[in-house]
Amino acid sequence: MQTVYLNGEFLPAEEARIPVLDRGFIFGDGVYEVIPSYSGRPFRLKQHLLRLDNSLSAIKLANPLTIARWSALVRRIVGLHPWQDQAIYLQVTRGVAKRDHAFPSTTVPTVFMMASQLSPPDRTLVSRGCACVSAIDNRWLRCDIKSTSLLGSVLMRQRAAEAGCLECIMFRDGYLSEASSSNVFVVHRGVISTPPNNHLVLPGTTSDVVMELARIAKIALVRREVSLDEVRAADEIWVTSATKEVLAVTRLDGKPVGKGKPGPVFKRIYALYQSYKRNVMRKS
Ligand code: PMP
Repeated sequence: MQTVYLNGEFLPAEEARIPVLDRGFIFGDGVYEVIPSYSGRPFRLKQHLLRLDNSLSAIKLANPLTIARWSALVRRIVGLHPWQDQAIYLQVTRGVAKRDHAFPSTTVPTVFMMASQLSPPDRTLVSRGCACVSAIDNRWLRCDIKSTSLLGSVLMRQRAAEAGCLECIMFRDGYLSEASSSNVFVVHRGVISTPPNNHLVLPGTTSDVVMELARIAKIALVRREVSLDEVRAADEIWVTSATKEVLAVTRLDGKPVGKGKPGPVFKRIYALYQSYKRNVMRKS
């Protein structure tokens, strides 16, 4: 049975109800997080909760809970489910109000949380890599906010799914931004590049781990604008996200990336990521 958290109580998923005038439903006026949990322990929890706080500030919605309370709730929902690895989804909306774009004068935010089983990418996907398509990034200009208004990303991801691909890698004015639900890294002659954090990309919790690991392992990494031509000529491309971890992209728009299989820098980072995960899990 799936138990969810809604506005202060834990209840069976099928019993949870949201009023139709919730601004999350009417306007997509809300923000969310997806936090992986391995063997009962949430991974990079503090970083996810800080990003949630940033998203809430950006939409001028006061954080309804303290970081300590959020942490306790996340741990509690993990403990209520049997799966070894879980993805914890949490969402805060601007609550229920008469339909008007302007904020209501008093706001009681809706707070929702659910757990689902998480299967990290299997061995075959990791060893073969995935296929992606490319597209012009036509989403809005505040992609740094983890907003529940996801239609742009939904259409991009659908485009990838229809092409039998995992992700859609996007370009704004000829430069790489991110993928529909991942950050993107490229490698040229051993040097890793990834776009800088700005309003065009979500600051990824997984990409932060990858950057920390590259720094510790002294693998050259630069944050810079990466052109479409550079992506097409890359030796390696990877996508990162909390649920995909680090995955090599071995085909882009039907053509092989580099040698068409996961490259040496990916293999190194992937191994470092898995051992970091094991270490963090042991300690937390
Ligand atoms: N960019 C977008 C648009 C995303 O939806 C995600 C997934 N949350 C990411 C990047 C990766 O972020 P994270 O590593 O924190 O999952």
